[in-house]
Amino acid sequence: MSKVEDFLTAEEEAEIVKAITIAEKNTSGEIRIHIENHTEKPPLERAQEVFHFLGMDATSLRNGVLFYVGVADHTFAIIGDEGIDKVLENDFWDCTRDIVITNFKERKFKDGLVAGILRAGERLEQYFPFSGDDKDELSNEISKG
Ligand code: CA
Ligand code: CA
Repeated sequence: MSKVEDFLTAEEEAEIVKAITIAEKNTSGEIRIHIENHTEKPPLERAQEVFHFLGMDATSLRNGVLFYVGVADHTFAIIGDEGIDKVLENDFWDCTRDIVITNFKERKFKDGLVAGILRAGERLEQYFPFSGDDKDELSNEISKG
């Protein structure tokens, strides 16, 4: 179970996409998931790279959030764009990350990501509430490396 293709079933992926759609109904923030097998880089550094690669630094409010998963590396990272960093404390993502990692340790990968996404959405809502003319600026589909 160390391959990206085996990490989640198609049904689990659909549930994750649905969770992103639900979360983004309450916030203008844009949440994405990137899953890949392995990187030589530190996970946070790699997450920054993926963030840029996915064009996540181009949202109007700079409020994109990336969940990065390294399957074979057993790594996980969350990063947000500078719009979020400006208004939030550094430990903003700690509880979200804890929820995900606690589930991952029990091999509940889908549950961890869904819970993390919903929590991230709740937290984002406080600072970036949904507005009527909100656009889905970034795809809710899972990105795979
Ligand atoms: Ca949006
Ligand atoms: Ca989106």
